[in-house]
Formats: sequence, C-alpha cells, structure tokens
Amino acid sequence: MELKGLGSKTREKIRRIVGSDNCSDRPEDLYLYAFDAMNRRFLPEMVAHPADASQISSILKLANADGFPVVPRGAGTGLTGGSLPVAGGLILTTSRLNRIIGIDRENMTAWVESGVINGDLQAEVEKQSLFFPPDPSSAKFSTLGGNAAENAGGSRAVKYGVTRDYVMALEVVMPTGEIIHTGSAAMKSVTGYDLTRLLVGSEGTLGVITRLLLKLIPKPQAVGSMLTSFPEVRQACMAVTNIMTSRIVPSTLEFMDRSAIDCVKDYLDLEIPSEAAALLLIEVDGPPGVVEDQVAILENVCREAGAILFQTASTPEERESLWKARRSISPAIMKIRPLKINEDVAVPRMKIPDLIQGVEEIAGKRDVRIVNFGHAGDGNVHVNLLIDPEDKDEVARAHTALEDLFKLTVSLGGSLTGEHGIGIAKAPFMYLEVDKDTMDVMRRIKRALDPNNILNPHKTFDYEPDIADREIRAPDA
Ligand SMILES: Cc1cc2nc3c(=O)[nH]c(=O)nc-3n(C[C@H](O)[C@H](O)[C@H](O)COP(=O)(O)OP(=O)(O)OC[C@H]3O[C@@H](n4cnc5c(N)ncnc54)[C@H](O)[C@@H]3O)c2cc1C
Repeated sequence: MELKGLGSKTREKIRRIVGSDNCSDRPEDLYLYAFDAMNRRFLPEMVAHPADASQISSILKLANADGFPVVPRGAGTGLTGGSLPVAGGLILTTSRLNRIIGIDRENMTAWVESGVINGDLQAEVEKQSLFFPPDPSSAKFSTLGGNAAENAGGSRAVKYGVTRDYVMALEVVMPTGEIIHTGSAAMKSVTGYDLTRLLVGSEGTLGVITRLLLKLIPKPQAVGSMLTSFPEVRQACMAVTNIMTSRIVPSTLEFMDRSAIDCVKDYLDLEIPSEAAALLLIEVDGPPGVVEDQVAILENVCREAGAILFQTASTPEERESLWKARRSISPAIMKIRPLKINEDVAVPRMKIPDLIQGVEEIAGKRDVRIVNFGHAGDGNVHVNLLIDPEDKDEVARAHTALEDLFKLTVSLGGSLTGEHGIGIAKAPFMYLEVDKDTMDVMRRIKRALDPNNILNPHKTFDYEPDIADREIRAPDA
C-alpha cells in the first residue's frame, strides 16, 4: 500500500478516537515531536496522545484503512532517531499511559503502563525494599515502553542484565490493530513462541507496547564504590578481566580513556594522576560485610594490574563524588565541540584494548576528536565523535570515521549497537553485521505482522537514504 499524507477526513477521525484535547496538528506542537536525542529533525503531520490500548487499536486500524504512517514515541530520549517521523504521518505518544498499575511484593513483579518513567518505578519499588535493575543514564526521563522497545542497558547491566531480562509479559497493540498478550506472570513459561523477546528491542516497528509485567529483585543492602586509574589502557583491561574472573560480579564497571579523563578532570573533587591513561569506576553490592570484603579484594586485583590510584567511597556524598567523573563526561565534551555523535559499539570484553587502539588510529587518520568511555564490564564502549556541524569538512571526515569504526567493531567480533538500537542512525551500516539471509528473515517477520508497513516505516533494515530529503531545519528562535 502506498502511504499517504493525513487528509482532513482522517484527521477528524483521529480527533474522534482520542478527543480533540488529546491531539494536535498545530505547527508549534508538531515541532516538539520533530526530534529526539539524535541531531536530526522530521516534522510529523499530527500528534496524538491516546488513553489506552483500545484507542491505539482504533488508530492503527484507521492507519491501515486510510494509509498513513504511525510512529510510537515515549519520552523521545532515543539516540538513534527511532521515534522520528521520517515518512511524516502520526506521532503516537504514551504520555497518558503513565500508571504503575500494581506492585506485587510477594511475587516480586510490577505491572506498569508503557509511559511510566523508569526512575519513577525504581523509586516506588525501592520503598518496598525491591529493586528494578535496568538503569539507563536517561532513567529520570525515559519511559519503560521506550526502554523495552530499545532493550535499554545502562551501567548495572554487567551484573543484572538489560531490560529484556526483566520483561515477563506484555500487552501490545499489533500494527493491524489486534491487542495481544505475550508471556506469563509465572517465572517459567515456554508456551508457544517467545513473542515477548521478539517485541522487546523491536524499536517500535512490530507493535505498540501498552503494558509491561516487570520482574523485580530484592534491593541490595549496601553498595561499595571505587575509582581507580592506570597508566595504560591495556592494564585497565587486564584489571577488568581479572575482576570478572575473581568470582566477584561487580554491579558497575565503567571505563574512561585518556581523552575522557582530560575532559572531566577539572570538574572533579579528587586529583587524577597526570599519567593516567584509563580510569575505572567500579561498584559492588550485597550484604554490608560482604561488600567490604569485596572492595578489599578488588583493590588487590587493581593494584596487581598496575593501578596508580585507588579511591573508595564510604558515604553517599563520597560515592556521588566518584560518580561525578562518569556523569561529567557528556556535559564536559560538549564544551569541546557543539555536536557529539555518540556511538555504542560492543565488542567481546578482551577486545576492548584493540578497539581503543583502533579508534585512536581512526581519530588520527580522519583528523576527528574522539572520546571513549562506557560499560567495560560488558564490552560496550561509547565512542563519541566530537564535531562542529558548521564545519562541513569535519562532518564529512566524521562520517568516514564512523564507517571505519563500524568495520573495525565487526572485524573484532563485535556489534554496531550494545544498547541504543539501530533506528536511522546505524541503519546504513547494518549490512556489516547482519548477513543478507538473516536480514531477509527480519523483513519477512515485519511484512507478516505489518503488511501495509504503517508502523514506524523506514527504520533499521527498511532504511531509505531518501529520507534526508524530508529533513527539516530547526525553526528560527
Ligand atoms: C542523556 C541520555 C542518556 C542515555 N543513556 C542510556 C543508557 O545508559 N543506556 C541506554 O540503553 N540508552 C540510553 N539512552 C538512550 C535512550 O534513553 C533509551 O533508548 C531509552 O530507552 C528511550 O526511551 P524513550 O522513552 O525516550 O523512547 P523514545 O526515544 O521515545 O523511543 C525510542 C524507540 O522506542 C519506540 N517506542 C517508544 N515507546 C514505545 C512503545 N510504548 N511501544 C513500542 N515502541 C515504542 C520508538 O518508536 C522508538 O523507536 C540515553 C539517552 C540520553 C539522551
């Protein structure tokens, strides 16, 4: 089916479904939904804020009948353009699906609507000594539906896994409008295909998630935080391996390279040795006595690997001061160049030194400033290319550097994206990692579930380079 723009009759039908107070096609409203955290802009034709799965179902049935694209949107914090309306059409937000339906303390689960903010759920369950581990750095703003659609990770993934590991069941509106229920409230269930796992990470292309049943675990009693630095990246990587094989599983194991350290050292309350080429932020959690013992063991492990600094935190304020090193990177690097392209490649842990060395070579060869940090424990490194968007030559060099980076990553047995998803940002490079037949199976699944291609078209394997023609510039302030 050829997708069309939204005609006046279709707009009227959408108003009738969600109520005219819950949708808009005024330009000033549309601009608010033209961008996410990736630096590109596409204008939708209308935005709707449905109240429940039944309204979403009516909208999707209408989209199939009248032929217009629908793009699900949570908080719009995505970094790969997943919620951008690249083909125009309707933005469908989950802003009104914002209820924590119930927390079941005994079974350690929670039913939530998909527009609930991750951090709000974390705060709520912690009041009952429970814990929801998926903790992307955007947790204070991003929605649980968006986290599930992107299979978001975060710094606790090294011990606790990613969003997928905590989604037990879903209510989803299919692209053709049926409301389906996947998974089970039972801890174990192998009935039928695992549609939950198919839908989690599908980046809003296979269905609109309206409710999630999430697994919770007991809240750890204590946390031990450490910051340590090394004169060589290789030594930091050795420490990472030795930590992971020490029979202690850290709850956080974050890495920063020299370029990242240079960016943040002026913001820190502690002195980082000038020869530091790599820094690790490590946390362990569990019963207080065990945590103390583990911190002592990890200090030995790090010193044996060549640590030249080992700082621990014993109060929440001291912990915050150590985290400042990690949290200051993003604002600090924006002072170097106005735009960063934030990649999230992942490699087998032992390949991190090869990745960092390769990235340094790419930075030199393409003359682009690159800062690396990320989740060393799971080999997921944020490679940040810093550019001035007004400098066309630098932008072109950065794009060549990106392709170099993805080729390097795949040659190391890695993946283009550990947590941010493909969206439109990495779509042109997906062929590097996924072979043609595998990609074809993905296309067949999409076609079977969304025969008219109305749900979030032109994302991931369905990318069309022509979308650039529909991009808009920011409105003048
Ligand atoms: C400062 C910052 C820090 C970040 N840190 C991390 C991090 O540590 N780890 C990490 O993994 N990511 C991180 N991200 C990326 C981003 O926050 C995550 O991808 C997050 O999961 C997106 O959630 P959202 O609600 O903003 O979704 P959106 O950006 O609105 O949408 C993202 C995708 O999900 C789809 N979608 C949204 N809601 C639904 C739904 N209900 N049903 C079906 N599809 C849906 C959209 O169509 C889109 O494709 C960060 C982003 C920022 C800006």
